[in-house]
Order: sequence, then structure tokens, then C-alpha cells
Amino acid sequence: MKRCLGKVAMVTGAARGMGQGIALCLAAEGADLALNDITSIQAMQEMLMAIQELGQQATYWQADVADREALSLVFDDLVKRFGRLDICVANAGISIPETVIDARWENVLRTIQVTQFGVFHTCQLAAQQMVRQVETGMAEGGKIVIISSVHEELAVRSSGAYNMAKAAVTQLGRTMAVELAPYHINVNIIHPGLTDTPGTRTYTTADKLNRAAKRIPLGRLGSPQDIGKAVVFLASQESDYITGVDLRVDGGFKWGLRFPLDD
Ligand code: NAD
Repeated sequence: MKRCLGKVAMVTGAARGMGQGIALCLAAEGADLALNDITSIQAMQEMLMAIQELGQQATYWQADVADREALSLVFDDLVKRFGRLDICVANAGISIPETVIDARWENVLRTIQVTQFGVFHTCQLAAQQMVRQVETGMAEGGKIVIISSVHEELAVRSSGAYNMAKAAVTQLGRTMAVELAPYHINVNIIHPGLTDTPGTRTYTTADKLNRAAKRIPLGRLGSPQDIGKAVVFLASQESDYITGVDLRVDGGFKWGLRFPLDD
């Protein structure tokens, strides 16, 4: 039995990387997909076809998650198109590597607008729709998953604004979990470790990634499918009694960090 059969799922930042992996995993489990990204529709064609080949419907809305008005129109249109929203994955996020002391203010603002406020807009709009569905008897609950990061707690250098945004969305997820529990809307937070995506490859080399993989206890980088599988679990009935949880999907990276005295 497919675990998301008959459900409608929204994924932001779905054109590539984790968003793509998450959307494909949800489609493989029977969900219809409402996809968002900031990139053009052309970049989405293969993805839309891949989902249709899995036997599911997929629609794409090009919008910047930081643009609250545009995102609000996406949600309105999504409800007109699919009639409902059961699962929402707030995945879109950006990182602009620079130290705090050298950070350009426009980069800090953009990082926060997308990675923090974009997640707020996405989760708030999703929650408003899901609560309406519960109140009108259309649904018994809903599932919201926030893609945060191990950066929410680790003080990774040259990532000040990003670290700040990930800490904020983690706390947003916990707060929403408590507020939405009476509606049986579960809100959980995934913390990926180093994951092999086009985004990761824009700011490092293949050689560095190979060396990094060897330092991860499970011996490899994460993949978009690893994150997608965790999302499916948190979007399915299997996790009905789990809310406000931080789920690390990092191959043991965080607890594998070396003590300074270790070799
Ligand atoms: P990626 O850059 O490969 O893909 C991100 C997607 O989001 C792209 O398709 C991009 O066009 C889209 N996007 C960017 N800004 C947007 C906006 N304003 N509105 C809508 N879409 C937008 O990134 P990824 O590595 O797949 O990361 C996905 C999420 O996972 C991010 O939130 C990131 O912070 C988080 N994360 C990534 C890693 C990693 O190692 N890759 C680790 C921890 C957390």
C-alpha cells in the first residue's frame, strides 16, 4: 500500500536537489504534487514528466518564496487546481558563503528573506488551508515538514545569516507543532547533513566532497532520496503521533564530530 495515496503535497524549491528528491519520493508513494521554484517552467519539464510517469498529477508554479503576495496566489491557485492540501514541505533555502565581518547586507537580507521568511510564508499559508479543511470536515489533519539543517545548531563558519535562519525555522516548526496539534496537523523538522545536491556543488569541489564523505560515519554524503524517504515517513500515517521532532538525516555526521584530543 502506497503511503501517501490520494494526498496532495506542496514542495518548494522543487526544481533540483533535495526538493526534486522529495517530490519524486512523495509521487512514488501516491501523492499528487504541487511544485514551486523560482526557476523557469522549462527547467521543470523533465521533473513534471517523471511524476506523471509515476502515475501522479503534477503542477508547477514559478514564484519566489520570499514574495509573500506571489506565494499566497500560488496557494490560492493550488487549492483551485487540486481542491485540497494535505502535505507541505518547506524546502527552498539559500546560502551565500561569507564571514559575518565581511557579510554584505543585501546578502544577509536575501538569505533571511528566502531561508527564514520564505519558510514562514510557506508554513503559515499551508497551515491556514489545512486548518480550514479540518474545520469544515474535509480532512482529519495534515503534515508540514520544514527542511532546516545541522547548521541550526553548529556554528559553521562563513554561514552567519544561514545559520541564523535555520535556527529560526527550527524554532518556528516547534512552535507550530504545539499550536496545530489540536487540529492533528503534525509539524516536524528535518536536519540534513552534507547532502550531494547542485547547490552543494556550487560552493565546493568534487575532491573536497570525496574527502568529506570519508569523515561521515556512514561513509558517504547524503542524497536527495535520503531526505525524500525521511519526508515520506513524516508525511505518512506512520508518524501520526510524532510532532515537533527534529530528525537528523546526516549519516551520523553530528555525533561523529571529533573531540579535539582524538586522532
Ligand atoms: P539547491 O540549491 O540544490 O536547490 C534549491 C532549489 O531551491 C533550487 O531549485 C532553487 O531554484 C530553489 N530556490 C532558491 N531560492 C528560491 C526562492 N526564493 N523561491 C523558490 N525556490 C527557490 O539546494 P539543496 O541543497 O537541494 O537544498 C535544499 C534545502 O536543504 C535548503 O533549504 C537547504 O538549506 C537545505 N540543506 C541543504 C544541505 C546540503 O548539504 N545540500 C544540508 C542541509 C540543509
